[in-house]
Amino acid sequence: KNIQIAIDGPAAAGKSTIAKQTAELLGYTYVDTGAMYRAITYKAIQLNIDLQDGEKLTNLLKETSIELKPSPNGQLVYLDTIEVTDEIRSPQVTASVSAVAAHANLREEMVKRQIEMGKNGNIVMDGRDIGTHVLTKAELKIFMSASVEERAKRRFLENQKRGIDTSLEELMDDIARRDKLDSEREASPLIQAEDAIFIDTTSLTIKEVSEKIMQLAKE
Ligand code: C5P
Repeated sequence: KNIQIAIDGPAAAGKSTIAKQTAELLGYTYVDTGAMYRAITYKAIQLNIDLQDGEKLTNLLKETSIELKPSPNGQLVYLDTIEVTDEIRSPQVTASVSAVAAHANLREEMVKRQIEMGKNGNIVMDGRDIGTHVLTKAELKIFMSASVEERAKRRFLENQKRGIDTSLEELMDDIARRDKLDSEREASPLIQAEDAIFIDTTSLTIKEVSEKIMQLAKE
């Protein structure tokens, strides 16, 4: 039987850093579901599609291939066979992705794909609805969060490393706005699964969170 670990939480809570590390330490496959929503958002923007049109976006997704491939430099994202790993992190995509992810039919198609991915061996998957809608029977479910200030600070440092210029205020606004959209949408809102373990990472280092999860994984 394959082992599944689900990691959910709001924007910039450190999910992907932790999920990636956990997967590496355990030798599991890492799946970043946010990258899939970002990829379809990127394509829709390129094609000038109305981001409020759920039906059009869902049809677009159905004829789109999104692949996540592990590499020594982290996970690479392919959209219709073209690599878009960096493009999907642009401020424009970040600002639009929650509107795209709010459409119920589009989510249904995404969840279907993610459930299939979950069947291929041991997996660590991160997102917003993994514990509640995708890997509902996961052996371990984590819900991690941190204060908005702390999350903005982390994203600020991460952006700096990537050479992206943003102010702390801008990031706080963006994170608070996405939190609101993600938790108030009707279709599978961001919510902690009943059987998930909550970790507040505000005053924890990456190493401390990672060790905590490894310990839970071993139980
Ligand atoms: O994880 P990341 O911040 O890259 O996700 C981008 C956006 O994709 C989130 O703000 C959310 O709107 C959406 N998302 C989602 N469900 C997931 C993963 C991401 O709705 N499982």
